[in-house]
Amino acid sequence: METISTSCVIAGGGPAGMMCGLLLARAGVDVTVLEKHADFLRDFRGDTVHPSTQQILHELGLLERFLELPHAKIRQVTLDFGDQHFTIGDFTRLPTVSKFIALMPQWDFLDFIADEAKKYPNFRLLMQTQARDLIAQKDKNGGDRIAGVLATGPSGNLQIRAGLTIGADGRHSILRDKSGLKVKDLGAPFDVLWLSLPHRPGDPVDLVGRIQGGAFFVMIYRGDYWQCAYGIPKGGHDAIKAEGITAFRARLRKVAGFAADRVDTITGFDQVKLLTVTVNRLEQWARPGLLMIGDAAHAMSPAGGVGINLAIQDAVATANIVGPVLQKGVPRFSDLKKVQRRREFPTRVIQRFQIFAQDVMLAPTLRAKETPKVPWAVKLLNAWPWARQFPARFVGIGPRPEHVQLRKR
Ligand SMILES: Cc1cc2nc3c(=O)[nH]c(=O)nc-3n(C[C@H](O)[C@H](O)[C@H](O)COP(=O)(O)OP(=O)(O)OC[C@H]3O[C@@H](n4cnc5c(N)ncnc54)[C@H](O)[C@@H]3O)c2cc1C
Repeated sequence: METISTSCVIAGGGPAGMMCGLLLARAGVDVTVLEKHADFLRDFRGDTVHPSTQQILHELGLLERFLELPHAKIRQVTLDFGDQHFTIGDFTRLPTVSKFIALMPQWDFLDFIADEAKKYPNFRLLMQTQARDLIAQKDKNGGDRIAGVLATGPSGNLQIRAGLTIGADGRHSILRDKSGLKVKDLGAPFDVLWLSLPHRPGDPVDLVGRIQGGAFFVMIYRGDYWQCAYGIPKGGHDAIKAEGITAFRARLRKVAGFAADRVDTITGFDQVKLLTVTVNRLEQWARPGLLMIGDAAHAMSPAGGVGINLAIQDAVATANIVGPVLQKGVPRFSDLKKVQRRREFPTRVIQRFQIFAQDVMLAPTLRAKETPKVPWAVKLLNAWPWARQFPARFVGIGPRPEHVQLRKR
């Protein structure tokens, strides 16, 4: 079996893994990222690049080049209750260099980060390479320590031995399962069906939420199309499929508002993807030699669209805290625990908000026959433009924003 030795191996080339890989490589750390797919091309990944992520790119001197890639800009968030229209979020007042969410296919974002990281000779990206297990060994005191991963790549099995293993392999993380770290499930009463509808001249260019008796629908402006999320009660996918595509189109027509006229473009369930929503987090994010970040440490609900933001922020905090140690040697368990101490607070705050939103608004909406009453907070935000920066700040920046502190070498 081939053996690779590296200072840090990262399992998972999503936003958390790639950003962490770039930051560590830039600081001169020998880093190896494993991605199980052959490329980053996957449909219906979250495609939001938040103001806080753009701020990180700015701090790295990459923002201008990044924004040359094709993208759509979202500056406002609106919410419709039946026929009533409300504006509830405004990114233009944020204290960040970019005052919008950039909508870009996630693979373009990840390709961009990978191209930057590959400029450093100490960065290695192994595509089509799946981490399968952890390598455990005894440390000098007789305790267990993770010393890398066993993986399978295009030419067979390999072991990658590392001073630090980072699990950034998403919400179905294999490394989390293998680590024995305990997951706390916070529950989610709904799933989401993703689909696209054409964008037509005269349509808004914002993020549009629509609430109509028994349904909620989110439409994200993507240039020539809308990326749409249709909320369904947990486990309701099979029942909806059994009703047939005509009945599903009728459901969409009821909630899609101005986009109801193009629902006929959905001709089969192959155009509709199920996202099973999970909200959970690890009780402990680390073991000696192993650190979990991003969705692998805390799977996020799509409510608020903040999972990528949080994953990137984890990556930056990891690089800031663990990077200087990796430049000199092997991080101790206490170093890894500092990452959880730094990032658990924002994770908890955002998950609490998501649970509140799903329990108080989304789940009752799905159960209701009539369109629910407009909450006072929505009316207030609509009436008071200045206040709209606060929800925008929560989504676009989040609590405890991170900044790049790890120096380039
Ligand atoms: C349909 C959908 C829509 C979403 N929409 C949004 C949105 O609009 N905005 C938002 O902010 N968030 C959204 N999210 C959530 C967001 O995608 C995640 O929170 C975010 O991607 C987490 O980043 P991550 O790097 O931790 O994990 P992931 O993005 O899941 O990346 C993990 C990576 O690891 C790879 N991998 C997995 N297992 C292994 C292994 N064993 N070995 C090697 N590689 C492995 C995967 O292929 C993947 O590339 C959405 C999620 C889904 C599923």
